[in-house]
Amino acid sequence: MAVDDQRVLIAGGGPVGLLCAWLLGRQGIPVRLFDVNDSPQADPRAATTHPATLDLLGDDGLADDMARVGLVAPIFQFWDRPSGEKVAEFDHAILEADTNHPFVVQCEQFKTAKLILDRTRNLPNVELLYSHEVVGVTQTGSTVSVEVRGADGVKTHSGAYLIGADGGRSVVRKQAEIAFDGFTWLERFIVLTTPFDFEASSGYCFRSYFADPDEWCNCFKVSADGPPGLWRTVYPTNPDLSEAELMSDGAVQARMQKFFPASRPYEIVHRNLYVTHQRVAETFRKGRVLLAGDSAHINNPIGGMGLNGGIQDAANLAEKLARVILDGAPDQLLDLYNLQRRTVATEFVQEQSIANKKRLEAKDPETRRRNLDDLRAIAADPERARQFLLRTSMIASQSRVAAMALTEA
Ligand SMILES: Cc1cc2nc3c(=O)[nH]c(=O)nc-3n(C[C@H](O)[C@H](O)[C@H](O)COP(=O)(O)OP(=O)(O)OC[C@H]3O[C@@H](n4cnc5c(N)ncnc54)[C@H](O)[C@@H]3O)c2cc1C
Repeated sequence: MAVDDQRVLIAGGGPVGLLCAWLLGRQGIPVRLFDVNDSPQADPRAATTHPATLDLLGDDGLADDMARVGLVAPIFQFWDRPSGEKVAEFDHAILEADTNHPFVVQCEQFKTAKLILDRTRNLPNVELLYSHEVVGVTQTGSTVSVEVRGADGVKTHSGAYLIGADGGRSVVRKQAEIAFDGFTWLERFIVLTTPFDFEASSGYCFRSYFADPDEWCNCFKVSADGPPGLWRTVYPTNPDLSEAELMSDGAVQARMQKFFPASRPYEIVHRNLYVTHQRVAETFRKGRVLLAGDSAHINNPIGGMGLNGGIQDAANLAEKLARVILDGAPDQLLDLYNLQRRTVATEFVQEQSIANKKRLEAKDPETRRRNLDDLRAIAADPERARQFLLRTSMIASQSRVAAMALTEA
């Protein structure tokens, strides 16, 4: 069989595209990946990697490597910001029988990408082409082609399948005319990163969520360049204010002091503002074009599910593509990829991430009281706590995926 008949083209060298390249490439499948940037980016966005995802990355020691360069976080907490009360604490140890990884690993996404990249570089059948922008997509019944702009102009590359892992603004998705329905939140999310130690000062664990009718907050620790690490705080912003107003030194210090009053100004090492959406592609498969990661689904980051979903897409898709390409399995198997991954993106990740946000931002006093009472009751009951963690750790959605495979078989 000619190499082009087996080759998988990948648009996007973020963590999802790289993982697809590695998982396919290590099985001997020829892969050509294009990324518009001239090198891997130090993208600080995702850090939280859930048990269900770590279970998929146990092979070849990747999950262990992520824990080594990141932080292991078995516990997360909910706080009521106005009263300062710790409402509930959940320990993933309760999932010992459900996962090989009864904890979350906080590993910044550029570190995860680098660990995958290092593995991918050893594979002669995987070509990583940086400074290459995918600008066009066409397909026939037997092949798919991309037009790619590089230093020497626009060239056409052909293969058996194309994976669009080119992020939320995916050119592949648009070129394939796949709708991306959903909505955009009015408020942007601001992330302020500081070395200030919230564990030592206030007893906050590495993943702490703060409910507040006025301004919720998520507070996380990441390992950064090594001890003592950094703390990221995430807040909603006023939609009426400009980026300059929200990002000024004065506004940033006022926000930090309002939340965590301190005797000195905070050292702020990063400040980032994000527009946040809830959207799912109308299909993750159109002929020879497949979508994975943010090109297929995007959601608000409360609960840390976006990249986890993307990694789960990559693992599911690579396994099916390998069966189609190497074993001659019927390519309807790729429809099962769409069914499984689109169902959980819609029914699970969208629903859960929106519910997470609503729980933190509730304004009505009665709703707030009910939310916090619910959390207390769940945390106090081991079986309810386990069921709650099965959802937050994405084990429940992976079980749903497995059940769909059985139904379709
Ligand atoms: C504040 C914040 C916090 C988050 N925290 C978490 C978390 O804790 N846990 C979690 O699971 N998720 C989290 N997320 C979501 C997570 O960051 C994304 O889901 C993740 O980046 C998706 O990875 P990806 O590889 O699909 O896309 P991306 O990381 O966006 O990568 C896309 C790649 O495609 C390339 N590209 C784009 N267009 C083209 C083109 N035309 N041609 C070639 N290359 C192209 C880009 O250069 C880029 O390298 C968070 C998001 C935000 C905003």
